[in-house]
Amino acid sequence: MFHVKQQADVIVVGGGHAGAEAAHAAARRGASVILVTHRFDRLGEMSCNPAIGGLGKGHLVREIDALDGVMGRVSDRAGIQFRLLNRSKGQAVRGPRAQMDRRLYRAAMQDAFRAEPRIRVIESEVTALSTRGDQVTGVELTDKSRITAGAVVLTTGTFLRGVIHIGGERRAGGRMGDAPAIALADQIDAFDLPLGRLKTGTPPRLSGRSIDWSAVEMQPGDADPSMFSFLSTGPTARQISCGITATNSQTHEIIQKNLSLSSMYGGAIEGVGPRYCPSIEDKVVRFAEKTSHQVFLEPEGLSDDTVYPNGISTSLPAEVQEAYVRTIRGLEAAEILQPGYAIEYDYVDPRSLSRRLAVQSLSGLYLAGQINGTTGYEEAAAQGLVAGLNAAAEAMSLEPFVPDRAQAYIGVLVDDLVTRGVTEPYRMFTSRAEHRLALRADNADQRLTPLAIALECVSQERADAFAAKMERLGAAEAVVDSLHITPREAAVQGIRIAQDGVRRSARDLLSHPDIDLARLAEIWPELADIPSAIAEQITADARYAELIARQDADLAALRRDEAEVLPADLDYTAIPGLSMELADKLSRSRPETLAQAGRIEGMTPAALTLLLLRVRQHDLRRSA
Ligand code: FAD
Repeated sequence: MFHVKQQADVIVVGGGHAGAEAAHAAARRGASVILVTHRFDRLGEMSCNPAIGGLGKGHLVREIDALDGVMGRVSDRAGIQFRLLNRSKGQAVRGPRAQMDRRLYRAAMQDAFRAEPRIRVIESEVTALSTRGDQVTGVELTDKSRITAGAVVLTTGTFLRGVIHIGGERRAGGRMGDAPAIALADQIDAFDLPLGRLKTGTPPRLSGRSIDWSAVEMQPGDADPSMFSFLSTGPTARQISCGITATNSQTHEIIQKNLSLSSMYGGAIEGVGPRYCPSIEDKVVRFAEKTSHQVFLEPEGLSDDTVYPNGISTSLPAEVQEAYVRTIRGLEAAEILQPGYAIEYDYVDPRSLSRRLAVQSLSGLYLAGQINGTTGYEEAAAQGLVAGLNAAAEAMSLEPFVPDRAQAYIGVLVDDLVTRGVTEPYRMFTSRAEHRLALRADNADQRLTPLAIALECVSQERADAFAAKMERLGAAEAVVDSLHITPREAAVQGIRIAQDGVRRSARDLLSHPDIDLARLAEIWPELADIPSAIAEQITADARYAELIARQDADLAALRRDEAEVLPADLDYTAIPGLSMELADKLSRSRPETLAQAGRIEGMTPAALTLLLLRVRQHDLRRSA
């Protein structure tokens, strides 16, 4: 017999990246929250690589931060090497990324929990959800107690019927060292939710002392680090360099010879793995023509000897891992602290969810994170934030939070999941966002913080900092809009623009890629008083304004063409610029219209434009 132990507005099951963000988001909306997870001291655990951000993922973290989530601030406290990826390219595709000290990340996350009085953490396992009819009313724990709540968020990651594989070895586990959630998975079966099976893998961990660092190239972080949080001013931890080495033909030979012993290639695993984060076995087979693959040697912490060799995740037997690792430059005497492994787990088809991330066939139940078929800490956290805000809204009869594709990468993520579903672990890329020129990492606060303020889920500190920034930005915009120059005067100043007689404002001039505020300050000295962060923002906004208008027009045109019929004999493999992956998916599914092609998982707006062009050429040839 179960007894009721406690009650809350929202229960979050699982303290991974989705669960942490869900609990905090619900609390920020004013809900009382109980988080049930196996262990408090594993809050903030990074099961795979010790890094946050990257292309697309860094955008998600900035957006989470703009909505006052915890991931950005925690990452800034734990970051030991910050790098802005794609620094030489346009702002829209730059991705902040940082190497984490695992221990500092856990400590910062646990501090964030201690600082939030609305969240209580219970260390236990949820064995079942309590229901009344189609309504989820709470959860049941291993000690046979029951907690009731207005809404429940499930964020159990890879734990649902998780199975770990190392070569021919197979054991039940949610991740290395943790038991899987079997009872809960069995109950979810009873709800008749559509389930699938996915897999992911992780590389062996090496002892840093056993690496010959003098033999590998060292890569430092950026001199002027880009922080994740709009509230942070700079790193607090000591900064380090990472090593770079590479596999070679000898490494590949050992892997090739032992492929049949790999759990992934030996047929032991049925789940589909992440195409974008392939195992070393995958790389050696799929890119057989390449004789070398880069390996980043990433220290897991300042006071931790463990090194994460990024790029060689594997499920080969431990002795084969040791043999191939030792063929790599700098790793000739490397000692493996923990072998790499693959994990296979259940996920719920996210098409069974609404845009609030609520299960459509049951009331009061929300799902977020890897359980929805995604991969990555950032994707998990972004969903946790959406589910947490909405679970609190349901429990407390507040406005839901449904971000739009045009507003945020978080909106793209949720929309992709609930409309297209997944066929392989989903990760974020900038190419998934048709509005990517507007959805930049640098302007996430301008896009989203006002929304969070309206939902009353931001701290006073955040609201004040945002108001102060907008005031400074507004004042600077007024200055750049008030200064004008004729093309002839500009030419005298050495600025080349069309001699069309049209007067330009300083803001108009900033839209030219080779003109910045420092250059304009030579003409108008008052511009030198604009603080550098505001100058950068104003320049990015000005540069992208025209491009965004053009992008919006292209998107409107694409929407008008959605009924366009795709010829049944169209050869997708012959369309220049279309990726092999998409050509393959299109050839197999043969969509009848452009709209149907647009719903294929992984389809991008740029690829749709290529299809449209090809159809037009096809039509022209027919009518000629
Ligand atoms: P998790 O972080 O897994 O958290 C789940 C939480 O739920 C845990 O705290 C657990 O204790 C708790 N829990 C589970 N069941 C119960 C229950 N019944 N009751 C109470 N608590 C419960 N991502 C990448 O981007 N690239 C990679 O290469 C990559 N490789 C990976 C390799 C491995 C082996 C693993 C395990 C993960 C990998 N990931 C990778 C994925 C990344 O770690 C996850 O996507 C991310 O951590 C998912 O976050 P989450 O919150 O959904 O789940």
